[in-house]
Amino acid sequence: MEHNFKKKFGQNFIDNKELLDGIVSDAKIDNKSFVVEIGAGAGALTEVLAQKAKEVVSFEIDEELRPRLEALAQKHSNLRIVFADFMTQDIKEYTQNKKFCVVANLPYYITTAIISKLIKTRPQTMTIMVQKEVGERLCAKPGNSEYGAMSVICQRVAEVEIARQVPRTFFTPQPDVDSVVLHFEFNDKDLPDDFVSFLHICFRAKRKTLINNLSSGLGISKQQAVSIMGEICKPENSRAEELNADEFITLFEKCKKNKLL
Ligand code: SAM
Repeated sequence: MEHNFKKKFGQNFIDNKELLDGIVSDAKIDNKSFVVEIGAGAGALTEVLAQKAKEVVSFEIDEELRPRLEALAQKHSNLRIVFADFMTQDIKEYTQNKKFCVVANLPYYITTAIISKLIKTRPQTMTIMVQKEVGERLCAKPGNSEYGAMSVICQRVAEVEIARQVPRTFFTPQPDVDSVVLHFEFNDKDLPDDFVSFLHICFRAKRKTLINNLSSGLGISKQQAVSIMGEICKPENSRAEELNADEFITLFEKCKKNKLL
């Protein structure tokens, strides 16, 4: 296609029909689905979504894609394109409290920011293309060296799995990295606001014990940290990477109850 691809917007477009159909099938979209897409690009995935779903709202930051995307919206009455920076938008304004699914080949330069924003709005499902290493990190289980704060956050609110591997050759222009499609099935467990900064304290020095990180990060004595670990029945030498998401929530709540946060 004729387009001046912009690296600053993370523009790597999919040019493989099988992959497009595969993503829509991973997302389990049907004619009742309300889909939010971030980054319409040239509209390749957008069009397949519009053919399958009841309604699609797709955000695109690059004004140069306007003529092509407006033509696509003319063709599909269930498609609305919003030309805006997704990060500045209030999703609720578009979804009007309806249940929705997110499907997107994300711009990789803001992957974490987009995921964090979406998690707060709690879609039903989220099916997103991300860089392979990022996908593996978000799905990593306790005990895996890739397991970190973002894995805990995602696994607290959803079942996360790698739905498919996608080699770099499936994109134009070809990126320097391989990708995976991640699929999230959300639950309704709460994610307290200050839990995220608490997790960053827990994982601050990954090689140190959790007791050490809690003590230095919260400015509490080692003895206080030892006693909190005892309350959640975890050994004193536990490291952050050994706790699952629900255990972190219990630890967080104990810290709050003891006024350590
Ligand atoms: N969906 C298309 C596809 O799969 O071929 C394009 C995907 S491309 C990886 C990411 C798209 O997101 C680009 O079209 C880019 O311009 C757009 N984008 C980048 N940052 C954005 C932002 N903050 N808000 C909305 N769209 C953005």
